Amino acid sequence: ELSNRMAVRAVDIIKMLMKQGMMLKINDVIDSDTAELVATEFGHTVKRVSEADVMEGFIDAEDHDDDTIVRPPVVAIMGHVDHGKTSLLDALRKEDVASGEAGGITQHIGAYQIKVPSGDRVTFLDTPGHAAFSAMRARGANVTDIVVLVVAADDGVMPQTIEAINHARAAKTPMIVAVNKMDKPDANPQRVINELLQYEVVVEALGGDTQIIEVSAKTGQGLDNLIEAILLQAEVLDLRANPDRTAEGVVIEAKLDKGRGPVATVLVKRGTLKRGDIIVAGASWGRVRALIDERNAQLPEAGPSQPVEILGLDAAPDPGEAFAVVESDARAREITEYRLRVKREKTMAPVGAVSLTDMMSKLAEKKVKELQLIVKADVQGSAEAIIGSLEKVGNDEVRARIIHSGAGAITESDVQLAKGSNSPIIGFNVRASKQARDLAEREGVEIRYYAIIYDLIDDIKGVLSGMLAPIQ
Ligand code: GDP
Repeated sequence: ELSNRMAVRAVDIIKMLMKQGMMLKINDVIDSDTAELVATEFGHTVKRVSEADVMEGFIDAEDHDDDTIVRPPVVAIMGHVDHGKTSLLDALRKEDVASGEAGGITQHIGAYQIKVPSGDRVTFLDTPGHAAFSAMRARGANVTDIVVLVVAADDGVMPQTIEAINHARAAKTPMIVAVNKMDKPDANPQRVINELLQYEVVVEALGGDTQIIEVSAKTGQGLDNLIEAILLQAEVLDLRANPDRTAEGVVIEAKLDKGRGPVATVLVKRGTLKRGDIIVAGASWGRVRALIDERNAQLPEAGPSQPVEILGLDAAPDPGEAFAVVESDARAREITEYRLRVKREKTMAPVGAVSLTDMMSKLAEKKVKELQLIVKADVQGSAEAIIGSLEKVGNDEVRARIIHSGAGAITESDVQLAKGSNSPIIGFNVRASKQARDLAEREGVEIRYYAIIYDLIDDIKGVLSGMLAPIQ
């Protein structure tokens, strides 16, 4: 198509891309940046007109207008099972002062927003745990501004606490620690602080930058302090968005409702979504028939950081998928058709796959100086031994960085972290669960298995030295 539009032979484009190190076949899909590069190379002036192009990367596109206003922070709650994530979300819901006026938060739509006495608002993602968080990130949607890490004061740091820390860190999302269950007689917050230190989470009292708040989801103790800490962190982050433009955002949840058809909960990232807008979400589209909030109220519109359920899409999009308003039905169709095509081609050959060969060529191009890895081993002892050895194989120019490690089988969560952070997974004397294997295959994440530490280290050494070799 590109060759057609430029009236250049396809083979010449392929040759040109080959020189750039890209091996492509005639019908492969290239991203808009590459297309722009090609067009410029062949002497064309590029003007991006189609959302189909722009939208592929729009989620992180900068808002250039000066008309931004402060927007509420979007907060995800993560932590070990049974440490009180769900209880905390329930308790925080009750801190909403707007409930009196509007009848309270009555339905679960995947996220809710509360208003506190100061008038400030906070949006909470209502699906606790890092599965949802990393599923979204794996699709490239970083909706979370702040992670609240819940640690039970009577239990301390546990495996999923560590996983949550690693997920937040990989996403570069700031963290606030909520030490929960402070009402319990055996609550020991000091122990939590000390244990967190081992994972380089340093609280303010020890000179670090992590706020730590003691709370009880049961008694409500400390919830106001937690909200204050969130607002303080939000202020530091200076979260802004322009409300006066067409809306863009992310799908949080979606389902097919028997009576209402496809229902999607979206979070507006910028702009204002209005009833009657035509939107495209992933490969589905439609005219917004109704906007419904977590209080079951119909809204005429929704602004930045506001979660709303929307009716009117032709299918339920996947969580984490981006949505945007477009100007016409025709445009919406064009984009969804384009996306369906890309999707089909992607399932045939994963694009942007995470593999060691891939990493090697990126390393060779000096695009990355660090080889990020996830290491899972049969026992903690071997995981530590592997990490110790891997940390020694690098030098000043290149090194391996282990972004997550642990003992036990490779899980879906590991694969999602791998996808979201572009890191292959190393399994030492462990296998991946069926779900993890399927997901890895779908997402193009490489999992390498080893039984001998020497082989593992040797392989990684090879990858690292591959990028040290002189480049022609
Ligand atoms: P989740 O798995 O992290 O979502 O944890 P839940 O919210 O389901 O809580 C697990 C258990 O801990 C439940 O039995 C809660 O009642 C209890 N729990 C949660 N928060 C508190 C708290 O602050 N104090 C006490 N005593 N129990 C709590």
